[in-house]
Amino acid sequence: MTKHYIPEAWAFEFHGHRCPFMPIGYRMGGLAMDYLGVEREKDHGFFVFPEIGKGHPQTCMVDGIQIATGATYGKVLMEKTYYGKLAATFYHPQKEAVRYALKPDFMDNMGKFEFFDYRKRGIEPSKIPNHITDDVIKWVFEQPDDTVFKVEPRPDFKFSPVKGSFNKAKCSICGEYVFERYLRQKDGKPVCIPCSGYGR
Ligand SMILES: [Zn+2]
Ligand SMILES: [Zn+2]
Repeated sequence: MTKHYIPEAWAFEFHGHRCPFMPIGYRMGGLAMDYLGVEREKDHGFFVFPEIGKGHPQTCMVDGIQIATGATYGKVLMEKTYYGKLAATFYHPQKEAVRYALKPDFMDNMGKFEFFDYRKRGIEPSKIPNHITDDVIKWVFEQPDDTVFKVEPRPDFKFSPVKGSFNKAKCSICGEYVFERYLRQKDGKPVCIPCSGYGR
């Protein structure tokens, strides 16, 4: 493994704590970019579909993916599938798609580190002694790529991003601006979703 896939200090600062999963996501994102032959995304052209859900651990991976790829949540380049799996599909319209998943044996071996004894007792990563956390992070850095990741091309993968629009109008009830895709009609007047009383 190359140094390229070790996150810089700002990445840990952005993430908020030291843990093994942000660096795993960072490496996953870097490898996927190399695989597809794409650069870190400056604008809106590279999409990532992480398979994580809610209410399970190890989702920190996704912050590492965002840091590496520039395909961020805020740029609407990231949509979760809620499968509850530590995997992600990376898609560039001019290339194709590739899926990276953590190998079960790797997850089992990593799970033996003391870091996870703390986590299972409900102790947050920032409260775990540094040497315990650094032990598992160092071990992860030493694992070869093909020990960590299963890689599958997905030539059949299709995705059509929603076309962007700057059009907006004021809600006739609360007076706040709403982008047109989300405007609703009530008694013939434009309204926002919360004022409309309808669901999404
Ligand atoms: Zn974390
Ligand atoms: Zn409103």
